[in-house]
Amino acid sequence: MTVPGPAAPALQIVGLNKYYGPLHVLRDVNLTVRRGEKIVVCGPSGSGKSTMIRCINRLEEHSSGTIIVLGTELNDDVGNIDEIRREVGMVFQHFNLFPHMTVLENCALAPMLVRKVPQAEAEAAARRYLEKVRIPEQAMKYPGQLSGGQQQRVAIARALCMRPEIMLFDEPTSALDPEMISEVLDVMVTLASEGMTMICVTHEMNFARRVADRILFMDRGEIVEEAVPDTFFTAAKNERTRQFLSQIL
Ligand code: ADP
Ligand code: MG
Repeated sequence: MTVPGPAAPALQIVGLNKYYGPLHVLRDVNLTVRRGEKIVVCGPSGSGKSTMIRCINRLEEHSSGTIIVLGTELNDDVGNIDEIRREVGMVFQHFNLFPHMTVLENCALAPMLVRKVPQAEAEAAARRYLEKVRIPEQAMKYPGQLSGGQQQRVAIARALCMRPEIMLFDEPTSALDPEMISEVLDVMVTLASEGMTMICVTHEMNFARRVADRILFMDRGEIVEEAVPDTFFTAAKNERTRQFLSQIL
């Protein structure tokens, strides 16, 4: 099943199940994501969106089924996990920046530690990515001196500094004040237009309409709907999807 190298899909999930104790939170999830594809995942709170995203880079261990990222299967092989973490960037709802480090240091740290990039080179790259997320002037500040929207853009720049093949976003704008949401979404739109493979948990449906190749709707641990945006918004097959959309649109 594993296809090695650049020919492999970005992600193959087959028969994925996840339990927390007796709680069955992912139920037989199947998903294949091509390289360069943009997937938006939505669904009610508690439906398993974060758990699925977290299983993809092994922040959570799955209970059964197969997850293959860029041709490498996620199992107990620690080498595989390290390899996948290098290739998969993650942006969380809460930015998770290191508060005692400058923006530049936050961005340069992982490439130096994990990829053994020399400091000067790592910092030069960090400055390029800060430019890309449109906050080059914030490089020497500390996260606490930045707005939420700026901090989230630092978190995106920090992930990009590892030059990931895939970016995972877990509700990146849901902790932000409304006026800051678009500055983060704009950066994500740019990334998408440059061909990044993206899996985004978000309820920003205008973003989904603009960027997604496919939209998934999760409910109670299952992917119950999967469609291109047009179909998703106008002709969802599942009653729960239609009900959810009527609440948020
Ligand atoms: P979503 O992101 O869609 O809101 P989650 O993946 O966070 O959903 O959660 C799915 C279910 O798993 C929920 O019932 C949640 O309470 C439960 N859950 C999430 N994380 C844990 C955990 N670490 N331990 C126990 N239960 C958890
Ligand atoms: Mg969540």
